[in-house]
Amino acid sequence: MNLADSSTLTASLTTRGYRRVADESKADLIILNTCSVREKAEQRVFGRLGEIYRYKLKKPHLKVAVVGCMAQRLGKELIKKVPHVDFVLGTDRLFELPDVLEGIEGTSSIMTAFGHENMDVIMPARETPYSAFVTISRGCDNYCTYCIVPYVRGKERAHAADQIVDSVKRMVDDGVVEITLLGQNVNSYRYNDVDFPQLLVRVAGETDIQRIRFMTSHPKDLSTRLVDLMAEEPKMMPHIHLPLQSGSNRILNKMGRVYTFENYIRIIEYIRKKLDYVSITTDLIVGFPTETEAEFEQTLQAVREIQYDAAFMFRYSVRPGTTAAGYEDDVPEAEKIRRLNILIKLQQQIAYERNRRELNQIRYSLVEGTSRRSQEYLRARTEGNKIALFKRDGVKTGMVVPLSINSVDAFTLHGELVESN
Ligand code: SAH
Ligand code: SF4
Repeated sequence: MNLADSSTLTASLTTRGYRRVADESKADLIILNTCSVREKAEQRVFGRLGEIYRYKLKKPHLKVAVVGCMAQRLGKELIKKVPHVDFVLGTDRLFELPDVLEGIEGTSSIMTAFGHENMDVIMPARETPYSAFVTISRGCDNYCTYCIVPYVRGKERAHAADQIVDSVKRMVDDGVVEITLLGQNVNSYRYNDVDFPQLLVRVAGETDIQRIRFMTSHPKDLSTRLVDLMAEEPKMMPHIHLPLQSGSNRILNKMGRVYTFENYIRIIEYIRKKLDYVSITTDLIVGFPTETEAEFEQTLQAVREIQYDAAFMFRYSVRPGTTAAGYEDDVPEAEKIRRLNILIKLQQQIAYERNRRELNQIRYSLVEGTSRRSQEYLRARTEGNKIALFKRDGVKTGMVVPLSINSVDAFTLHGELVESN
């Protein structure tokens, strides 16, 4: 979501005559678009602000803007803590940065009030020239007890279905091949009488986009209709990111996730029954308050049973103002680290096993650019959202090419170009 917002902000600054520079030492304006989801993310921002101070000493006209979730959470506190910050714009206000820079009436250097965003404007946000994000909803109403997002991003608001469809059309005209529809909980999308599966039907049917992805799904709202649609509609890419968070029902309940492990497994079974090929990924938290060793083992067991293609795994981090911040953070840090390392190790083995199942398969992959390691290799994204590397052979970025997968590790597939049939 932050990547998407950053691209949108960049686009709006560019249309106002600003130019992106390759090196921050050359910049006259430095923007940090921030995340508050874990304490570490916030600490990193303070670290970066410390580094930026050097430039400010050499170049007094340099402006520093902190935007997004941390700006929302801390407001003017942020300038008190770090006086060389010039602008603090919250999650509803960051797109007003060009106005703030020009000192347009009604703007000020610290803006965090909600209810000001212009929901009529969704700028296409490019990840690469061929893939783009489309934000379909903002905010979240779920209030999982550990999570700061509902506080810093506000209540859930849906973008109009017509706008989303138009925006995808414009991107297709501009060369985009793949879009990712974004929301904290895309499955609860509703605009008038259009729900998420209906939105997908419209995007697939009314535009020439080739590949459609979405993120993130909350297990409580993922419907069988959505899975059926994924099975029927070839434009829908077979990847589902479905955060489990914990394998223990007691912890899930304390997290406010409103599903049990058994409900979750039923969804996974349905997905795997309906889709011949699907990649399933997740988010997991270890060391939530009162999590026992046995409950942590239930998470490990869940991971063994479900066999995720990939997972984002985190240590629980106390977020001020959330419900869980009222619970004693009683799992010692060293213990959280131990649990996380065990989980990561297990998941890596599973990811390797999952990737091995891709061997000798043909994966139609969108070529995104050159491999970071070698100019001779290109990097492509498979249907299941995995990275596949292959020898150039005259292929251009932006093409969707069939790759035969011939070697894998836990993170990457390696393939070779084959003739399409
Ligand atoms: N809306 C998405 C996720 C948003 S945050 C969803 O519900 O899936 C991304 C992930 O960060 C969460 O899924 C969770 O695993 C993790 N996370 C959120 N708050 C956290 C906290 N306080 N400590 C550790 N991890 C957290
Ligand atoms: Fe946070 Fe839960 Fe909302 Fe995801 S669904 S953003 S974890 S409150």
